[in-house]
Amino acid sequence: MAKKPQVKYRKKRNDNHDSGRQKNDRRSTWPKEYVKEATYSDGITVSQLAAKLKRNSSDLIKTLFLMGSVVTINSVLTDDMIQLLAMEYNCTITKEAEKINLSLEDTEEDNPAELKERPPIITIMGHVDHGKTTLLDYIRNSKVALGEVGGITQKIGAYQIEVDGKKVTFIDTPGHEAFTAMRARGAKMTDIAIIVVAADDGIMPQTKEAIDHAQAAGVPIVIAINKIDKPGANIDKIKYAITDLGLTPEEWGGNTIVHEISAKTGQGVDELLQTMLIVAEVQELRANPNRAAFGTVIEAKLDKGRGPVANILVQNGTLHVGDTVVAGTVYGKVRRMSDDKGRDIKHAGPSTPVSIIGLSDVPSAGDRVKVFADEREARLVAEKRMQAKIEKERNATSAMTMNDLTEQIKEGNVQDVNMIIKADIQGSAEALKASMEKIKVDTVKLHVIHATAGAINESDIMLASASNAIIYGFNVRPDANIRKKAEEEHVNIRLHDIIYKAIEEMEMTMKGMLAPEYKEVITGQAEVRQIYKVSKVGTIAGCMVTDGVMTNSSRVRLIRQGVTIYTGELASLKRFKDDAKEVSQGYECGLTIKNFNDIKEGDIVEGFKEEEVKTA
Ligand code: GDP
Repeated sequence: MAKKPQVKYRKKRNDNHDSGRQKNDRRSTWPKEYVKEATYSDGITVSQLAAKLKRNSSDLIKTLFLMGSVVTINSVLTDDMIQLLAMEYNCTITKEAEKINLSLEDTEEDNPAELKERPPIITIMGHVDHGKTTLLDYIRNSKVALGEVGGITQKIGAYQIEVDGKKVTFIDTPGHEAFTAMRARGAKMTDIAIIVVAADDGIMPQTKEAIDHAQAAGVPIVIAINKIDKPGANIDKIKYAITDLGLTPEEWGGNTIVHEISAKTGQGVDELLQTMLIVAEVQELRANPNRAAFGTVIEAKLDKGRGPVANILVQNGTLHVGDTVVAGTVYGKVRRMSDDKGRDIKHAGPSTPVSIIGLSDVPSAGDRVKVFADEREARLVAEKRMQAKIEKERNATSAMTMNDLTEQIKEGNVQDVNMIIKADIQGSAEALKASMEKIKVDTVKLHVIHATAGAINESDIMLASASNAIIYGFNVRPDANIRKKAEEEHVNIRLHDIIYKAIEEMEMTMKGMLAPEYKEVITGQAEVRQIYKVSKVGTIAGCMVTDGVMTNSSRVRLIRQGVTIYTGELASLKRFKDDAKEVSQGYECGLTIKNFNDIKEGDIVEGFKEEEVKTA
């Protein structure tokens, strides 16, 4: 049908329209600027399209009439009619893509009547070697229901056990790093955090980190004092230490649940698991098993034989074999599904970890998974999400600067400012925290979500990313990797070595005043390879310039394992025996620091200058 008229009408258009724009033609009263491109969606009427094309409805009616279609001003146009008009008017009229919802978030409101209790999802966190893996293994091995014993348990990132006939799900990757990395990707999977503390050791830096990470996520904490079978175990010492952190045990009148366990012998583990059920009950964890599934990818890989394999935690609804899903930017049909015991299953309800095959590609951990009724829509959503992701990466902006934050506060867009403080010593971290928390501004609240001694590490960056926090470093320096990571995660790191300056900066920001912003420019870095002690001269550091240039006039900072040991100036810079003005990357040099001799092999000498950031 389309071909024949095409020739006919093209001819007509040439005859009438192009020559028709003559002064004496009645169409000369039309706007001279004809629309060359327009879009429309289903259901558009003659008058609506006329408005888009900036032509009279009567003209569209007449044109269509000449082509054999009788329409009125309110008639709905078909796609064919619209394309004929496009040809006639020598313009492009394209159909708008159907408005599709690209979000994979679980936004569907569940009918309260359909909600059913769901198993709690638990993550075990704590300091290295305090027994996280041992506890996870003990629970997995001792709690597999009868009949499953001997069955090969495949690791799929999470597993489910039964306690008193009720299911409990454990995330198999212990530690707060994985937990926060997931959260930085927007995924919330954990309902309860068990913080393991070894009774023969005590609260260690990562214990505190884990507590802060769980609290920043608003996840309830249960403390498991582990290794109570060991002769050196000192349970009370741990209880005092956690009380100091504001986690007073219930038995001491607080509201932190504390269990004494041995992950090795299993002592106390049953009680700990029963507590999980109680905490879950208090939290009223519910989901609706009678709806399309929603979940999160725990981990995924490409299997040589089976193709992309995705391990997923179903969080709401029920996932069925045959369902069409989108996971992040990939899609597919669930061809096969197995559980954590390696058994093929057909359906998986809320809080169930499963392994699925059938996806078009490998998704990423933390990607949201959603079931679609329509395969075509699933593909479209996955493709559009992929495009959006590429676009976002291309347009990636840097972290919010202090001036951006000031502007946001002034516009009333920011009410809560989250902050992470890392300092060279615990005393400074605490002093800075106390002063920062004292800053009073009407509408804006400052929350220090983590404050400890030590270098800024990757988990700080992830916590900042997940909690939208600023990192304040006091006498600490992030290394190149951490800087890069911060850039990738768009995290703002502020570095100071004078407490009042850090506070002043924050106060001005929160009060909506633009502080003059100084940007430190690192001009070069050199690694100390050898030390020579020379009487009269002091310590000479034989260095390799690893980045930029070292200049004899620049200010320098001596960094040892991410912590600033000293800030000052160079006393001398030499290349072999001669004084040098500057030494570039890849070359060796010898240097001394004014009034400072405690230089060690492996230290980093960083040259820097300060520049005021000019704001427009
Ligand atoms: P993770 O780094 O926190 O995962 O710690 P692991 O689970 O790897 O445990 C570190 C070490 O402590 C291992 O040698 C374990 O055997 C040991 N361990 C863990 N829990 C206990 C316990 O309750 N009692 C004793 N005696 N040793 C334990």
